[in-house]
Amino acid sequence: MKMYTAVVTGILFPLHERLKHHTTVAVHREMERSQWWDAARLADFQLTRLRALLQHAQAHVPYYRTLFAKLNFDPVAIADLHDLARLPLLTKADIRVHLDALKADNAVGLARFNTGGSSGEPLIFFIGRERVSHDVAAKWRATRWWGVDIGDPEIVVWGSPIELGKQDRIKQWRDKLLRTRLLPAFEMSARKLDDFVAEIRRVRPKMLFGYPSALAHIAHYADERGIAMNDMGIKVAFVTSEALYDHQRAQIEKTFGCPVANGYGGRDAGFIAHQCPAGGMHLTAEDIIVEIVDANGQVLPHGESGEIVVTHLATGDFPFIRYRTGDIGVLDDTPCACGRGLPLLKAIEGRSTDFLVAQDGTVMHGLALIYVIRDLPGVRQFKIVQESLTHTRILLATDAVFDEANIGKIEAGIRQRLGEGVRVEVERVNEVAKEKSGKYRYVISHVVP
Ligand SMILES: [Zn+2]
Repeated sequence: MKMYTAVVTGILFPLHERLKHHTTVAVHREMERSQWWDAARLADFQLTRLRALLQHAQAHVPYYRTLFAKLNFDPVAIADLHDLARLPLLTKADIRVHLDALKADNAVGLARFNTGGSSGEPLIFFIGRERVSHDVAAKWRATRWWGVDIGDPEIVVWGSPIELGKQDRIKQWRDKLLRTRLLPAFEMSARKLDDFVAEIRRVRPKMLFGYPSALAHIAHYADERGIAMNDMGIKVAFVTSEALYDHQRAQIEKTFGCPVANGYGGRDAGFIAHQCPAGGMHLTAEDIIVEIVDANGQVLPHGESGEIVVTHLATGDFPFIRYRTGDIGVLDDTPCACGRGLPLLKAIEGRSTDFLVAQDGTVMHGLALIYVIRDLPGVRQFKIVQESLTHTRILLATDAVFDEANIGKIEAGIRQRLGEGVRVEVERVNEVAKEKSGKYRYVISHVVP
């Protein structure tokens, strides 16, 4: 370990965390050990913590006190993780309605957060210190799987306006100390991209962190200008928050000369899973219980695909119990070659808003339409907006090699999947605008399945 990194991990970061009343360092120490536990021991640990969370919720969180009384539910009597299924799912709408009743009466230092939410509607929720410590510790552990530690220089390509709004003095001090450099992803003009490429070369990061679309975009830009980015010793590119496509992975790996580690999680649901060098997407099982449910909310057996529902065990201050993420995934029981006991999540199929509804009622993943457009030569950017069951708009940015005859192919391909009666409108644009968050969404549907 380099001297500066050693000082940061050993002294400065623990001090920073203590000043903020976080227990990250202790949590991380435990996580380094528990990642090697076997499935039975991890499940046992989850059960103990689940019981404690539910008891705490009953004693201190008005929403759960009322709910448990109504259901005649006794947290002490929980004998098995399957008992969790006796509680209802928590939706974003529930959080919106019961925002205040979800706060623990003894919570201190709750921070307010706001995400775009799956439908583009903002979701407001609160995060307590315990949870911050656990989420930061989980990320820290995952970076160490790739030989990166806290204090190693890191470039973060991110767009959340909240993160940027919080550029107060403490945060700037922290970022400088921890050598984290934030590049805002929502504006990617050629001038900005020149700056980004220069900044990455100046910082010589050990790690890149960001949206796959943003990192792939920067990589492609550097490539086109013949700027080498693979000579800085970047160890890994962590991508998260969007679906990772093969062509993005290939572009990032080629340009930066490092592997891509896919991650899954969010401010709301927590640091759910991250890829290890052996390829397994490991759940943060000490903190998060993942259930997969069908369209009726019934729990599905491992191996079957359904909506990802999470219970975050470090959320006593503002509980996330059986929270519906809107994402689709599969739990995988095969052990990972790396030897860690943390169970695996596979095939995260993207946000539920990536789903489209055909005229005959078929719900399909956005990829079904993405494939119609993505691989046509000359397509630079696109966005599919399903306005209604009878109207879909395609925003399309192309370059010189694009063959105009392909417009007809796109229209036919979309109609073939969504229904022959659908009006497909292709709008040519120079640039497809990103979401306010800086995230790039390929498919948006305004049709409720
Ligand atoms: Zn592994």
